[in-house]
Parts: sequence; structure tokens; C-alpha cells
Amino acid sequence: MSRVEYDDVWKKFPTRDAPAVQGLTLDVADGEFLVLLGPSGCGKTTALRMLAGLEQLDRGDIRIDGKSVVTLEPKDRDVALVFQSYALYPHMSVRDNIQYPLRVRKQSAGTRASRVDRVAKLLRIEHLLPRRPAQLSGGEQQRVALARAIVREPRVFLMDEPLSNLDAKLRTHTRTELKALQQQLGVTTIFVTHDQAEAMTMADRIAVLDAGRLQQLGTPDTVYQRPANLFVAQFIGSPPMNIVAARHENGSLLLEGGWRIEAPRIAKDAAELRAGLRPEAIELDMVAREGAQPAEVLVSEPLGSEVIVNVKLGDVLLKVRTGPDVRPDPGTRVFLRAQPAAVRVFDASSGAALN
Ligand code: ATP
Repeated sequence: MSRVEYDDVWKKFPTRDAPAVQGLTLDVADGEFLVLLGPSGCGKTTALRMLAGLEQLDRGDIRIDGKSVVTLEPKDRDVALVFQSYALYPHMSVRDNIQYPLRVRKQSAGTRASRVDRVAKLLRIEHLLPRRPAQLSGGEQQRVALARAIVREPRVFLMDEPLSNLDAKLRTHTRTELKALQQQLGVTTIFVTHDQAEAMTMADRIAVLDAGRLQQLGTPDTVYQRPANLFVAQFIGSPPMNIVAARHENGSLLLEGGWRIEAPRIAKDAAELRAGLRPEAIELDMVAREGAQPAEVLVSEPLGSEVIVNVKLGDVLLKVRTGPDVRPDPGTRVFLRAQPAAVRVFDASSGAALN
């Protein structure tokens, strides 16, 4: 069992006015793959380092399996960190690199050898064991760094952008493998990234951070479909959600640019609204239909399996996701529709979602 709890954790660095982490409360379940996601500087690494014992907390508590770890030395917390830079020892063979944490913990030679062999097999790097790090590709070095973390059999894995040094293809491949490996091992994992696609594909749940504060904690589906606020709506999704100024008028929602949509149900009203439409929440027709909104095509961007059609509604630019065969030319008149249930409504001043 290894449940991880952050309980109202605060951290301020003396050189900065705003705290790096502000009132972070998180409950990570045993075996869960939790991704801390947010833009550069939002406090992800600081949150991870406090759990590892590499930064002190100003306030709050961090517990593993119900026991506070904040006064423990890093080595006594039983967590393993994997960084962006693999930090392998260049003068040691891959085998010695992987078994290093076991040597530090004074494990016998027999135990070391059998655990290294098992992990090397799991990561399919047995053939690399005699080599030095300099004789490995980036992807291979990354596997060795992972093997060194796994061999310890820690209670928690902490991973700080471990895939960011890999090229795009290897990165996509490795994230699938890493997710499968984590499921197989069942070790609670906290994974830091600023890459929303990485977060969406790997996480059981995503904790979205901005400016040191937790914005939303939820499954990838929830943060995508039901973003808690405008920040999450625009941070997650590629292209991001279309956000348009809107107001209620005669029972419908009137968007800037003149598009009138059947008003979605909202929990409460606000003085100023923003409507949020995912690119796939907008249906695009080439022929006029009842209630459809005319718009003009600016440009179509074919992406192979889909096309992003950029349309203009007055001064408003909307991105619409269509099938690969729909790619209207610039200047074409098209017609837009949206199901009310697919429209998110936000309070423009607080940014909070209202439905
Ligand atoms: P990135 O993705 O760029 O690594 P991050 O979300 O992990 O960003 P942190 O590294 O946690 O962000 O940093 C949060 C804020 O705290 C940043 O503004 C950073 O400059 C500041 N910070 C981090 N470490 C220190 C430090 N040791 N001393 C002073 N300020 C720091």
C-alpha cells in the first residue's frame, strides 16, 4: 500500500514574492498514475521535490500511507526519482549503474544480481548491461535510468519530465511502454509534465496546476470534457477549446460574432460570460440547415486523419475539427451548429465553469 497525501502544502522561495506552491491538497491512491500538469514555473517540480525530501515545506503536511514524511531524510522516504537528465554515472557500466541504489542499501551481491537481471529483462535492456552510458542512445539511457529507479522497489515513483529529452517518435512510444509498465508494477507514480498530450495519454488522474495552485483534479476525460475553469479549458486540448464572449438573450446564448445557440443549462448566471466550444463540438455543413450559423472559411489545415477548418464569424476566429475529406477553400461560406450539451459556459471574471 502506498497512498500519498499532500495536505495544504505551501512553499515560498525567498527570491520570489509569490509562493511556488500554494495550499496544495492532493490524495493519490495506491497504485495510481497521477500526472502533475501545468505551464513552466507553476510549481510542479517543487511539489515533487517536497515529497522526495529535496525541499522543505513552509506549511502543511505530506503523508505516505498515512504517516507524515516531512521530517524524514530523503533516503528514508522510500521514493525513487527519475529526472529529465538521466544522471547516469559515466564511468560505471549499465549493470553497475542499475545496481548502485542496492549497493548503497548494502544488499548482497546475489540479491543485486538477481534484481538487476529481472529489471533488465522487464525493460528489455539485458544486452546493454556491460556497456557504458556513453555507448547508449538517449532512449536507452532513459530506460537505464528507469531501471535504476525500479530496481529499488520503492513505495512511490516520482518522475520529472523523464521523456523530454527523447525525440517525438520515441517519446510517444516510450510513454505507452511506461504506462504499461506502471500498470504491471502497480507502484504509485507521480509524473510531472507540461505536455498535455503526455498527461492525457498516461494519467489515471491529472492535477492541473497554475501559478502554484491546483486548478482541477480529475480523470483525463473529466478535465477535457468538463474543465473547471478557463485556464484548464485552454491548457488542455490541441487545438484548444474555442472561447467566445457570450450573453443570455431571450432564452438563448448569443455569442460574439452573432451566433445564437440554444442556451445550455447553467448552475448560476454571471454578469459576463464566455462560451467554450471544443473544435469537435462544432458541426460544420456546406449547405444551410435550419438554425445553422453562416461563417466564412479562413483556411483549412489538413492533418491527415482530420482537418482543422478555421472559420470567421465577424471578428471571432473559430477552429472546427472535421473529417479528412472536408477541407473547404478560403472564402467558402459554411454553416455551423452546436449541441447545447457540448457548450461549456464560464464566468468571465472568475473564470469558473458554470455548467
Ligand atoms: P518547469 O516545468 O519549468 O520545471 P515547474 O512547474 O516545475 O516548472 P518549479 O520548478 O516548481 O516549476 O518552480 C516554481 C517556481 O519557483 C518558479 O517560479 C521557479 O522560478 C521558482 N523556484 C523553483 N526553485 C527555486 C529555488 N530553488 N529558488 C528560488 N526559486 C525557485
